[in-house]
Amino acid sequence: MARPEDSAWAVSVAQVASRPGQSSPVDADFPAPSGIGDTIVGVTEGEPIHVNGAFDSIIDGLVFHAHITAPVHAECTRCLKPLQHDWGTDVTAFFPYSYKEDETDDDTDIIAGEEESEDTYPLSPDGCFADLEALLRDTFAESLPLQPLCQPDCKGLCPQCGINLNEHPEHKHDTTDIRFAALAGLKEQLERETKDR
Ligand SMILES: [Zn+2]
Ligand SMILES: [Zn+2]
Repeated sequence: MARPEDSAWAVSVAQVASRPGQSSPVDADFPAPSGIGDTIVGVTEGEPIHVNGAFDSIIDGLVFHAHITAPVHAECTRCLKPLQHDWGTDVTAFFPYSYKEDETDDDTDIIAGEEESEDTYPLSPDGCFADLEALLRDTFAESLPLQPLCQPDCKGLCPQCGINLNEHPEHKHDTTDIRFAALAGLKEQLERETKDR
């Protein structure tokens, strides 16, 4: 059976567990778990996610708070340019000493405007390790930008020919000409049909 400490996301909390008022800092890279986002917006599995925070022990568990930064890959929703940038978010989670399954989901709390969520995760059965895999996955699944843009005023692509309008700001089609040409063609066709009758 896999031991809790063999997980790539295991953090030893043995020194602070069950001793209220202690703090154990975490400042390390962890591999991105699978399943964060998709090929359009996400974090590629195995990419380093930096966690900078601490476990603070309270009476009934460990409060984990950290700033988490991950290399998010995305595509500008307007011009489809590939984007690669570090995406950071603050997270607070609770690792109770006695963990009940039904505490997992109803505890999600998004504090308006603070981009902070609080979730509950289990410690290892012996209480010596906290595993951050699920926390990292949940955190980024919830906070990824859904409509990433390469720049706030991205001009996008020309709807007619697909050229990137950021690179060609002067680009435009003489749309009136195209419409007139189509109308002229239609007119010709109608005239011909009338004549043939
Ligand atoms: Zn763009
Ligand atoms: Zn065009």
